[in-house]
Formats: sequence, structure tokens, C-alpha cells
Amino acid sequence: MSYVSNVAHVEGGSGTLVMPAHSPYDRQMLREHVNMLAGRVPTLTLGVHGVRWTVSRGHSTNSHCTTCTQTMGRLICSRNGDVDTSCLDCAMRPGHHAREKWGNS
Ligand SMILES: [Zn+2]
Repeated sequence: MSYVSNVAHVEGGSGTLVMPAHSPYDRQMLREHVNMLAGRVPTLTLGVHGVRWTVSRGHSTNSHCTTCTQTMGRLICSRNGDVDTSCLDCAMRPGHHAREKWGNS
């Protein structure tokens, strides 16, 4: 059992915020915080479930999430060194990308 994997790190603007990411309620709070922060900084970093994501504002309405194939919202999440992009919901989904290690670059 790991408690670390249930915590999200949001880096951007003035520093790093550590938030729980375990329950659907936790992830709703996390999503709202990321959305709020993304309105103030061009890009931010979201570390969640052992994966480090770069979150940026989307400019193209034609972008689709490579995981769930839904049209991307106004935020685009990408892993370092990976051209695939995911929506914020997929980025926060537990277990989906668990094979990647935190801090990989
Ligand atoms: Zn998705």
C-alpha cells in the first residue's frame, strides 16, 4: 500500500501544491485547482499516480485525447518526451499510466 501514489503534486506559478488524488471528490478539487492555475500560468506540471504531466492550455479544438479519444478540453496534458496527449480526466485516472516512474525525463 502506498500513500504517495494517492497524492498529486501541482507545480506552477509560485510553487508546488500537494493535494490528495484518491477519491472522485479529491480529483474534482484537483481538476478545479489545475483549471484555475492554468488560467494564470502558460504551463504547469502535474505529478499524479507516479506520472509527471505537463499541462498547457489548448489552442486547437481539433485535438483529441489519445487515451479516451474524447475531444480535449481547454487543457492538454502531455508526458515528457511523449507526443501523445491526454485530457485532464485521463491524466488523473488512477492506474492507467502506472508503469511510468515519477521523475522520468
Ligand atoms: Zn481522455
